[in-house]
Amino acid sequence: MKRSITKDQIKATVEEAYNECKGIEGGVNAHYIPYLANVDSNLFGISVTLPTGETFGFGDTEYRFGIESVSKVPTAILAMRQLGPQAVLKQIGADATGLPFNSIFAILLENDHPSTPLVNAGAISACSMITPKGDADSKWKAITDNITDMCGSAPLLIDELYKSESETNFNNRAIAWLLKNYNRIYDDVAMSLDLYTRQCSLGITTSQLAVMAATIASGGYNPLTKRQIFDKDISAKVTSLIATVGFYEHTGDWLYTSGIPAKSGVGGGVLGVLPGKLGIAAFAPPLDDAGNSVKAQAAVKSVISRLGLGIFESDEVEIV
Ligand code: GLU
Repeated sequence: MKRSITKDQIKATVEEAYNECKGIEGGVNAHYIPYLANVDSNLFGISVTLPTGETFGFGDTEYRFGIESVSKVPTAILAMRQLGPQAVLKQIGADATGLPFNSIFAILLENDHPSTPLVNAGAISACSMITPKGDADSKWKAITDNITDMCGSAPLLIDELYKSESETNFNNRAIAWLLKNYNRIYDDVAMSLDLYTRQCSLGITTSQLAVMAATIASGGYNPLTKRQIFDKDISAKVTSLIATVGFYEHTGDWLYTSGIPAKSGVGGGVLGVLPGKLGIAAFAPPLDDAGNSVKAQAAVKSVISRLGLGIFESDEVEIV
């Protein structure tokens, strides 16, 4: 069946989802990173960006929170921009681990392979692939410039979060050295881990993440700045990674119940991509057992189901 949805309908739906979900309770802030444990648990925002660049946001959409694992998405894109999608597949992989984000067991099970750039192991490996090799400042600039290109505005490092993560990232240190042992770190180990920790500590807003999502949904074209940031092909590849592992061991449940490829972060953010249609982002700090924001998940699901826009729907939908 063919049907159309108006922009006003989308805006009204985002507002309804916000109102429906703002009272949801449950979950706890990430407690293993002290900075995140202390963020106000009542913050909540949701934002949708269309391929025209129009954005509809409700709630705390301008609050800067820790991007955390959502940063794995732009850095995977950057590695593809610099070295091509094939290099990412060969040097890291594109398989779901079915295990938690920080699993060491997953590395051992996958025959020494980090599996995907969207879990901690693969993301540290992706940071090691970024060029120019051996030059931490230039690599950091490439990582943040890429995020700025995708959002149309710059992220800001949250120093306190960076310090907090650097002082407590023992598990990630173990992952980095284990990967080094298997020749899956392609630059200096400490530098690669530090770049990963720093990118997780970037502060980003829900509005910025919605533009990032819309850039992926629009085939690498940033609808806000009207610039082509990366190839359409990269957009399809990264969306496949997001669909496969965006919610870690709960990705199947997520896709089954929401119908939208999305990536979460322990800062409470969720970025969702509906190819050709829209980008969506939501943020609320309290997380479920797998480290995914309770309220942000509910809000994204509510928007997608109210609009009947899941990627597995057979209707042909046009946004007018
Ligand atoms: N910086 C966090 C870590 O490495 C990110 C995890 C996440 O957001 O899933 O543990």
